Amino acid sequence: MLSSGTVQICGATKDAIAAARQAAEKTGDLPNLSRPDISVIALAMEQKKVGIEPIVYTGDYAVQNVLKSQGISFKSVANDGIKTVIKWIYKCEACKATFKAQPEGNVCSECGTDGFIKKIKST
Ligand SMILES: [Zn+2]
Repeated sequence: MLSSGTVQICGATKDAIAAARQAAEKTGDLPNLSRPDISVIALAMEQKKVGIEPIVYTGDYAVQNVLKSQGISFKSVANDGIKTVIKWIYKCEACKATFKAQPEGNVCSECGTDGFIKKIKST
C-alpha cells in the first residue's frame, strides 16, 4: 500500500505501531482500524521521521484520517478521499452527553441508557 516498493508491510517497529495506535486514538479512528491498517500508518510515520515523505495509497477513510492528522500524504484509491481530519465522538441520544471514546458496552455513563450511543463527527 505504500508508494515505496522496498517497504515491507510487516516491518514496522513496536514503537512505531504504538505511535500509530496513539495517533489513531487521538482522531478516534482506532476502533475502525485493522492491524494491517495500523502497520501501514506506523510505517508511514517511521518514514516521515527519517525524512522520507511517504505517500500512502488507501481508500480507507479511517487510515486517511489518521495520516492527515500526522501530516502524511496519501492518495485515495476507490474513494474520493477526505480533505480534513475528522474527529469522531460518541453522543448519547438520550441525555446528549458526549464521549471521546465509545462507552463500555455502549451504555451511557451519564444517564445509564443502553443503545442510544451514536458515533458522530466532532465539529
Ligand atoms: Zn445518556
